[in-house]
Amino acid sequence: MLLLGSDKLRVDFSELVGRTFECIDRCQLCCLCQPEVLPDERPFFREKYPDKLILKRSPRRHFALALKKGRGSCSFLENRKCAVYENRPRFCRRFPIHFHVGSGIQAELDLSCRGVWTGKGEDALLLGSVMASEDAEVLMATLSESKNVYGEFFQNCMEFGVYSAPDRMRIEVATRIGSFAELPFIASVLEMSAKEAEIDLSKLESIRGEDFDLDDLEAAAMEASMDSLSSSDPVALPVYCDDGGEWNIFNVKNGNVEWSILDEEGDLHLRKSVDPKDIRLLPPETSGKEVLVEYLKILNNRDSVLGHAYYLVDSYGYEDMISNVYCGDMVTSILDLLWRVSLLNYVRGGRLDRDGLREGIIFYDMDRLDAPTIGAFV
Ligand code: SF4
Ligand code: SF4
Repeated sequence: MLLLGSDKLRVDFSELVGRTFECIDRCQLCCLCQPEVLPDERPFFREKYPDKLILKRSPRRHFALALKKGRGSCSFLENRKCAVYENRPRFCRRFPIHFHVGSGIQAELDLSCRGVWTGKGEDALLLGSVMASEDAEVLMATLSESKNVYGEFFQNCMEFGVYSAPDRMRIEVATRIGSFAELPFIASVLEMSAKEAEIDLSKLESIRGEDFDLDDLEAAAMEASMDSLSSSDPVALPVYCDDGGEWNIFNVKNGNVEWSILDEEGDLHLRKSVDPKDIRLLPPETSGKEVLVEYLKILNNRDSVLGHAYYLVDSYGYEDMISNVYCGDMVTSILDLLWRVSLLNYVRGGRLDRDGLREGIIFYDMDRLDAPTIGAFV
């Protein structure tokens, strides 16, 4: 863990170490994210573009920039260029770095941004440190609120007997991280995490031979993806920005997955409708497995992933051990990711090698960062 900062502001920057970022021309995936407009940024928009500043009430009351037709890109995007570049909100300037505030502050890198995969550009750690010091006050105020929420959450877990120590859970997952990229082991974790007794990864064996049913696992993966690709609100749907800069949307409608291209004006152009039962869950090739394992290490280190498991424990009414929910959530993420890569492979071709898995992460990671957590992104 790389903790930097003063005694007052301590930020875990581990995820940014050794990574770089360069903005890629004609990508603009982040311009679909409806940036929040902070109080000191509002006067510019209020004065010059009052009809493009809107009040949003969910998930909390805040101001944001209007989207084209309420569902397309930001209304300031013109032919993939920002019309207010010098005055764009802090959200846009910071992308793809986010700060999650839970029991501590942690910097995360949005791996859906293609600009973090080129190995070129600016040092992400340097960028993140500057951003954290600029927003020190807000980060510290949010941390003090968040610590109270965490205190209450852990107390509830103790009372209901479902507490598991987060560090121990993470170490146990880290020790067997390679196994998490193997389908029989994933099936085993999925089965054990649904049981009442606390999952013990050190004793867990992969389901072997006839006991391993790929159809069952395929069904679980399809269910995870169908759930994450369903929304009546088009703005909430995951977007996969491909290497040609096209915004691909996969939306579940009437039991099928509709593959469309979103244009800048917010209109969808249908490419293909796919019966999800036609998608076979493909195991990653050796080079794909290496990429997957690196990604799992990142997920296992992210506080927002822990925070999402905590959110689920709370939503389920403190009935399940934290460790079971955490491991179950981890393997559901892997299945969702692998099913999406298999879907990309089905409609666009390609393999589940290094490149294929990287594309899957580009498709998937933004959703991971959008998932509700106990804690907050600042
Ligand atoms: S998603 Fe990343 S690469 Fe694409 S425009 Fe935004 S910052 Fe640049
Ligand atoms: S303000 Fe500019 S950079 Fe920010 S989302 Fe809108 S178009 Fe993109």
